[in-house]
Amino acid sequence: MSNSLPLNKQPVDSLKGVGKQTSERLSRINITSIQDLLFHLPLRYQNRTTVTPIGALRDGLEVVVEGTVLACDTVTGRRRSLLCRIGDQTGITSLRFFYFSNAQKNMLQKGNRIRCFGEVRRGASGLEFYHPEYSLINHNDHGNGAIDLADRLTPVYPLTEGISQNKLRQLAAQAVKMLANTSLLADLLPKPCQNTNDKFSMAETLAFLHAPPVHQISEQEIRMLEQKCHPLQQRLALEELTAHQLSLLQLRKQIRSNRAKSLPQDNKLTKQFLQQLPFQLTPAQKRVAHEIGADLADNKPMLRLIQGDVGSGKTVVAAMAALQAVAGGQQVALMAPTEILAEQHLKNFQHWMAPLKLNIARLTGKQKAKERQSQQHILDKGIAQIAIGTHALFQKGVSFRSLGLVIIDEQHRFGVHQRLALLEKGAEQGLTPHQLIMTATPIPRTLTMCAYADLDCSIIDELPPGRKPVETLLISEQKRNQVIDRVRNACNTGTQVYWVCTLIEESEALQCQAAEATMELLSSALPELRIGLIHGRLTSGAKAEIMHQFKIGAIQLLVATTVIEVGVDVENASLMIIENPERLGLAQLHQLRGRVGRGKTQSYCVLMYASPLSENSRQRLTVMRETNDGFKIAEKDLKLRGPGDVLGTRQTGIAVFKIADLERDSELIPQAQNCAKSIIHDRPELLNPLLERWLGNQQSYGKV
Ligand code: ADP
Ligand code: MG
Repeated sequence: MSNSLPLNKQPVDSLKGVGKQTSERLSRINITSIQDLLFHLPLRYQNRTTVTPIGALRDGLEVVVEGTVLACDTVTGRRRSLLCRIGDQTGITSLRFFYFSNAQKNMLQKGNRIRCFGEVRRGASGLEFYHPEYSLINHNDHGNGAIDLADRLTPVYPLTEGISQNKLRQLAAQAVKMLANTSLLADLLPKPCQNTNDKFSMAETLAFLHAPPVHQISEQEIRMLEQKCHPLQQRLALEELTAHQLSLLQLRKQIRSNRAKSLPQDNKLTKQFLQQLPFQLTPAQKRVAHEIGADLADNKPMLRLIQGDVGSGKTVVAAMAALQAVAGGQQVALMAPTEILAEQHLKNFQHWMAPLKLNIARLTGKQKAKERQSQQHILDKGIAQIAIGTHALFQKGVSFRSLGLVIIDEQHRFGVHQRLALLEKGAEQGLTPHQLIMTATPIPRTLTMCAYADLDCSIIDELPPGRKPVETLLISEQKRNQVIDRVRNACNTGTQVYWVCTLIEESEALQCQAAEATMELLSSALPELRIGLIHGRLTSGAKAEIMHQFKIGAIQLLVATTVIEVGVDVENASLMIIENPERLGLAQLHQLRGRVGRGKTQSYCVLMYASPLSENSRQRLTVMRETNDGFKIAEKDLKLRGPGDVLGTRQTGIAVFKIADLERDSELIPQAQNCAKSIIHDRPELLNPLLERWLGNQQSYGKV
C-alpha cells in the first residue's frame, strides 16, 4: 500500500529496516521524518560505475579495478600482512590486508578473477589498496560483499554512531524511491527566488543528488558535484540560506512587535557627558550615535549592531546610548566577553560618569557571593542605573527594576540565545529592552548578513585623528635575542611593552604555564625592567590590579596570555611582541595588535614566529604586515580559515548548515536575504514549512 502523505509527515520508522533503535539513533542527527532523511545529503560520492585499468591508477583515487590474482602471500614487514598481487592487461597492483582469515586467503588464490573497490595509496610494493572491498567474478562464493558496477554515483553520508554507511544508503534509497511521486515533497522557494535554470522539481533535485546518474551527465557536472557547486546543490544551498535568514528575520519581527520604552534624544546627561570628554567625536561616531539615538527614541525595541575597527571608539558611542537610557529613567546592562574587558569598561564608565553622579554595579563570575549580593540588590532596587559585567549579568538571581537597554560587547562570543536571555530580564516588566551589539573586530559583510540578519547595522568607518598605523614586523623566533634588545630599548625610552604568549591548546592551565615560563626567561634577560604577568587564572581582583599597574606605568613590560586580546586600552604602550602568531586567526591577531597604536607615538608589532613557517601561515602573517584595515583582514581571514573559525560559531549556532557553506556560497547570501524578505512579504505561508525543513528542532529561536 503506498502512503500518500507528504514526506515531512511520514515518520522515518515507516521505512523497512527502521526499528525503535535505529529511529532513536537517527533522531540524534535530527532525522525523524522521511523528508529529514532526504535532506541528509551525501558528503561526497564514490564512483563505482566503471572499471579503471590498473595501468591508470594514481595515488589517492577511489576506484573499481578488476584483475587476475597473480600471487597471494603472507608477508612480514614492519607488520605481518596478506599481500595479494593482481593484474590486468595494463598493469599490476596489490591488495594489502593487515587483518585476514584463512578463508580469505583461500579465496584470493592464484588464478581467481576478482573485482575490488577502494582507495589507491602508495605503499611498500608500489600502488596498493588497503583493505579494499572485493568479490570474485564468475564465482558463487562472494568476497566481503558483492561489487556490482553501479550506474549511479554512490553516496557517502555523514554518519552517527550505530548506523553504518550501508544502512544509511539502503534507507536513503528507499526514501528516494518514494520521490517518484513528486507531489509528496513540496517546492518551497517561490519561482522568482529560484534561478532560471531550476527546471527540476525539489523531488527530482533530491533524487538526483542522492544518486547522480553518471551516464547521463557530463564529466564537468561530476566535478561540480564533487566541489559542491553543481546547480542543484546550489539550489539547495540557496533554500537553506533563505530558511536561516527567515528564522532570524522572524526573530527580529517578533522582538520588534513588542513594545519598548521610548527614550528621548538630546537629554541633559548626554550633553553634560560630551562637554567633559577630552576629545571631539569623529564624524563617524556622531553619525552612528545619531542612528542609535533615533532608535532609542522609538517605542519599538532597537536591534542594532555597531561594527568598527579596533580603536575606532565604539565604547564612547555605547556610553552615549547608555546615558540616553538613564536619562529616560531606565537601567542599562553592558555585557563584555571577558573579565578584563568588563573591568575596563567599568573604569571608563566610572571615570566618564563620575561628574554625572551615577551608580554603576559590577557583576562578574568570579566575584565573592557577598559582593554579588550587594550588587544584585542595588540593581533590583534601581539604586544602580548601569550594570557592567560578564555572562554573570544574565544569570538567575539578577533582576533589574527597569532594564531599558542591553549593550553587548561581543567579540563573536555570544550567540543568539545568550542575547535573548538578557532581553528576557527586561521583558518581565512587559517591555522589551533596546539592544545594542558591538563587535570587537569587523566581520565580513556576508557573514554579518548571516549571523546578524536580525540586526540593523551601523559602521564606524573612521579612526580618531592622529593615530599612526602600527608597523608590523615578521621576525623568526631564532632572533629572540634581538627582539629582547628591542624590548629593552623601548622601555628605556619610556614606552611600555606587551609580550603575548599563545598556545594552540584551549587549556587555560597550559597557557598560564607558558606565560609563566616566558616571564621567568624575560625577568632574567631584562633584570632592570619592572615586569608583570597576567593570565586567565588570576582572580579578577589580581587581574584588575595588574592592569592598573600597567596603565599607570608601574609595570613596563606586561607578559600576557591572549586574555588581553579584547579592548584593553593603554595609550603609552607602543610595542607588542606576539609569540607564535601563526597559531592565531587573523582577526585575533588584529585585535591583539590593536592594543598598541593608541597614542601619538609610532607603534610596532613584532610577530615572532616559529620557523619554518608553512605556506599558509606565511600568507596569513603577510596580510598582517601589509594592512591595518580590519575589514580587509576579516575578508582574508574568512578565505583562509572559513566561517566557523571567524565567527567562533560553535556558540553562535550558524555553523549548522546541512549543505550551504558560507564561504563557498557567499554570493548566494544576498540572494537568500532577498528571497527571505519577499517570502515574509508575499508568501508568509511558506515560512513554517521552510523552517521545519531546514532547521527542524533547532529553530527554537525563530519561534520565541
Ligand atoms: P574600540 O572601538 O576598539 O572599542 P575604544 O572605544 O576602546 O575602541 O576607543 C579607543 C580609544 O580611543 C579610547 O582610549 C578612547 O577613549 C579613544 N577615543 C574614542 N573616540 C575618540 C575620539 N573621537 N578622539 C580621540 N580619542 C578617542
Ligand atoms: Mg572595544
